[in-house]
Amino acid sequence: MKFNCAKCPGYCCSHGRIAVSDNDIRRLAQHFGISERAARKKHTFHYKTKDIDEQLLRHHKDTVYKSVCHLFDRKERRCTVYEARPNVCRKYPYGDSCGYYGFLKFERAHQDDEKFIPTV
Ligand code: SF4
Ligand code: SF4
Repeated sequence: MKFNCAKCPGYCCSHGRIAVSDNDIRRLAQHFGISERAARKKHTFHYKTKDIDEQLLRHHKDTVYKSVCHLFDRKERRCTVYEARPNVCRKYPYGDSCGYYGFLKFERAHQDDEKFIPTV
C-alpha cells in the first residue's frame, strides 16, 4: 500500500456524497442493535435530484474539513464503526494508492511540517 490512513486526518470521510446500500444500512443497524428503519433515519438521508437518487451518510461539522461523516470521531480522526462500515468505505481508494495521501505527503515535505494538513 502506498498510503497510510493512520497519518491522514480522514479526508475521504469528508466527501459530501457517501452513498450507502440497503445492505450497508442493515449492517449498521446490527452494529448498533437498532432497526433498519431507525438506522436509515439516524445515520442516512435521501438525496434526490434530476440525475441522482441516493441514500447518503449524514455529516456533522468538523474542525479540519468543512464537515465529515457523522460516524467519524473528530478527535481521534477515525471511523467509529470500522467493522460495520459501508461497502464504499471498504473499497476506497479503489487501489494501492490514494491521491489525497500523495498530496498530503508532498505538502508536508514541502512545508517541512509533518502535521501540516492541506484542506483544499
Ligand atoms: S484520504 Fe486516503 S489516506 Fe486519508 S484516510 Fe482516506 S484512504 Fe486513507
Ligand atoms: S462510515 Fe466510517 S469510514 Fe465510512 S465515511 Fe463514515 S467515518 Fe468514514
